[in-house]
Amino acid sequence: MKDMKWFEDMEKRIPTGEVRTRFAPSPTGYMHVGNLRTALYTYLIARHNKGRFILRIEDTDQGRLVEGAVDVIYKTMAECHLDHDEGPDVGGPVGPYVQTERRGLYKEYAELLMERGHAYRCFCEKTASEEDAGDFDRGDDPCRFMSREESDRLAAEGRPYVIRQLIPHEGATTFHDESFGDITVENSTLDDQVLIKRDGLPTYNFANVIDDHLMGITHVVRGSEYLSSAPKYNLLYEGFGWDVPVYVHCSPVMRDAHNKMSKRHGDPSYEDLVNQGYLTDAIINYVTLLGWSPRGEQEIFSMDELVDVFDISGISKSPAIFDIEKLKYFNSEYIRAMSPEAFAKLAEPYIRRSVKNTAYDAAAIAALLQQRTEVLTDIPGKVDFFDALPEYDTELFVHKKSKSDKDSSVAVLKRIIPIFETLSDWDDEHIMAAMTGLAADMEAKNARVMWPVRIAAAGKAVTPGGAVEICRILGREETLRRLNVALEKLS
Ligand code: GLU
Repeated sequence: MKDMKWFEDMEKRIPTGEVRTRFAPSPTGYMHVGNLRTALYTYLIARHNKGRFILRIEDTDQGRLVEGAVDVIYKTMAECHLDHDEGPDVGGPVGPYVQTERRGLYKEYAELLMERGHAYRCFCEKTASEEDAGDFDRGDDPCRFMSREESDRLAAEGRPYVIRQLIPHEGATTFHDESFGDITVENSTLDDQVLIKRDGLPTYNFANVIDDHLMGITHVVRGSEYLSSAPKYNLLYEGFGWDVPVYVHCSPVMRDAHNKMSKRHGDPSYEDLVNQGYLTDAIINYVTLLGWSPRGEQEIFSMDELVDVFDISGISKSPAIFDIEKLKYFNSEYIRAMSPEAFAKLAEPYIRRSVKNTAYDAAAIAALLQQRTEVLTDIPGKVDFFDALPEYDTELFVHKKSKSDKDSSVAVLKRIIPIFETLSDWDDEHIMAAMTGLAADMEAKNARVMWPVRIAAAGKAVTPGGAVEICRILGREETLRRLNVALEKLS
C-alpha cells in the first residue's frame, strides 16, 4: 500500500480560492501563432480574474528537445508582456515547473492509480510508435487482466513495462468544454493509453493531468487537437477523485479554409513575423482576435484593455483563418499611433539598411514614412533613392493630372534651379514658397512644378514624402545636382 501521508502533503500545497491558468509549451525553439494565442488566452483569463499565470515547461518528449529552446520561450514571453507569476525561473509554491524535474512524482501517482484500480502495468513488447499512436487493441492485452501479485512479481524481476490507464469497457464519459459544450463518448472507443513509458517518464497525456491538478490549475486552455483525449483525462481525474478543471479548447489557426497553419509548410511563427517587420503589440492584438470576439466594434486593444474585456464566452469554436493583410492593417495602425520619436527609433535600423549616408537624417526620413508604412521591412526599398539616384526613365515626368510633360518639366527645372541656388534658407517653408512662387509666375497649378522637381530629386514615381521634404532632406547641393541630371536627361 502507498504511504498516503506524502500524497496528502502534496494536496496541502495546492493553492485554492483563485483562478490559476498555465501556459505549458514544449520547448520547440519557436512560437507558433497558435501557441502564442493559447499563451495570450491563458494569460488574459488569469489577469482578468486577478488570478495567477503559471509557466510550465513540458519537456518529457526527450527525442524532440531543441538546444536553447527554453530561452526562446522566456524571451518570447517577455517580449509579448506575458509576465508569469510562477515558473521555472521565478519559482512558486507548487514547483518544480519543468516536467523532467518532476519525473519521480508521476510514477508515484501512476502507482496510486493502480491501487485505485484505474491503471495497470503492461509488459507487452510494443514499439514506441504503437504506444504513441494508441494503436493497440486493449481487448487483446493479457496484462489488463493480470493479477496484482503477478504484476508485482514481474516488475520485481526487472521486466520492462509501461503503465496504462484502465478504461472501463462499458458506459460513456461526458466532459464539458466552454466553447464546445458537452461532449459524450462511449468508453469502448477509448484506448488504454500509456501513462508511464518504459523509460519511467510520463506521457503528455498523464503528466498534464497530474501537473494541472498539483498546480491547482482552474482553467485549462489548449488546442482542439486535445479534445479527443479529454474524456480520458476526465477518467483520470475521476480515478484519483479530483475535480476536473474548466476546459477551453481552441480551434486551430488556419492558413486557408482547409489547412492548418504549419511552420513546416512555411507559415510564419511569431519570430518570423517579427523578422518580417511586424510589431509585437500588433501581432498580439491581431492574434487575440483570431478566435475571440470582443462584444463591440473596437478592434485595436492594448494589453491592459484586453485584460479588461477578455471573456471566455467570446472564444469561438470555429477555426480562424490567419489573414496577413489584416495583420498588416493592424501593424500600420500601431505604427501610426506611435510617437514620432518612438517610430524614428524603431525605423532607423531599417532606414539604414539602404540609407548608409549619415548626412541624411534618419529621424527626418522616418517622419515621411510613419503614416505610410505597413511593415518595417518595406522601409529600405522605399527610401533607397536617398543614397543613390536610381536610373530612371524620363517618361516619369509625364503626369496628366499634374499637367506635366517633358517640355513643361524642362521649363520648370530651368527656372527652379537658379531660384533654389539663391534661396536664403533651405527649409520646408522656403522650398515651398520657391515652388509655389514659380507656379504663380507661370500661371500654372503647383503640381506642375512639384511633379518634375520630385521626380528629378527621387528618380522614382512613388516616394514617401513630397518634393519639399525630399529636397529638404537631400540638402541644397544634392538637390541641385539631381535637378541638373534631370535636365540633361530631358534634353
Ligand atoms: N505541451 C503541450 C503543447 O505544447 C501543451 C498542451 C496543453 O496546453 O495542455 O502542445
